[in-house]
Amino acid sequence: MVGIDVIQDFFPTKIHALITNRQGGFSSLNFKSLNLGLMSGDSVKLVKKNRSIIREYLESDIVWMNQTHSSDVSFISKYSSFVNADGIITRNSELACAVLTADCLPILFCSSDAELIGSIHAGWKGLSSGILENFFKKIVSENFFSFNNPNSKHLFYFWFGPCICKNCYEVGDEVKTKFSILDQNYDEFFEPAYNKWYFDMQSLAVYKTRIFFNSQEKYVIKIKVDNRCTYEDDKTFFSYRRDGKTGRMASVIITDK
Ligand SMILES: [Zn+2]
Repeated sequence: MVGIDVIQDFFPTKIHALITNRQGGFSSLNFKSLNLGLMSGDSVKLVKKNRSIIREYLESDIVWMNQTHSSDVSFISKYSSFVNADGIITRNSELACAVLTADCLPILFCSSDAELIGSIHAGWKGLSSGILENFFKKIVSENFFSFNNPNSKHLFYFWFGPCICKNCYEVGDEVKTKFSILDQNYDEFFEPAYNKWYFDMQSLAVYKTRIFFNSQEKYVIKIKVDNRCTYEDDKTFFSYRRDGKTGRMASVIITDK
């Protein structure tokens, strides 16, 4: 469907996941056309019309986050139109979890039984303040699963969506320092540029995910990376770095009814 790219050949068959592109919406100018970000400066009426396209396509309520580059993760049990968080998790099969991006990294998650799903908004601020670790701790520690076989392992799926790539994402010393203080291993995701650094945000997020789950005996993970660059492809993607005032794409996941 125009505007919607289904994420194929990765998640379990019971999962429906997608990322939107710029096509097929009602917005114009910088927001042309499928802008899903209510806070982007676009007409709220048009964004709501655009959102209804996705809602009708999925035939489900979508939980949207009020994203603030925080490390806050919320567990959602019933529909809410607006959640203050940068990560959400649900086991309510009536609900879709969404994340809005325009250069930041969208991450979608599910468990192999498709009982548990979630979405994460990850930019450098969230990644350096623990959004991933908070999300991972929540999905493993709250005893979401009953272990029938104590020797069995649980399988988690993580999809890392399109974001600004390592060749386009220039950051200053202050960003690199934030990560270096946490762990010098993160230095490998920064390449020197003139007075700046090129930052491979997506690879750092994948690395953090592998490191976390390597230390978890009960869990194994599957990872898929969509390495298209939002900054380079202006036909497909909104890009905050490229365009400033611009729209937002949505990455959305839901359990098939
Ligand atoms: Zn790029």
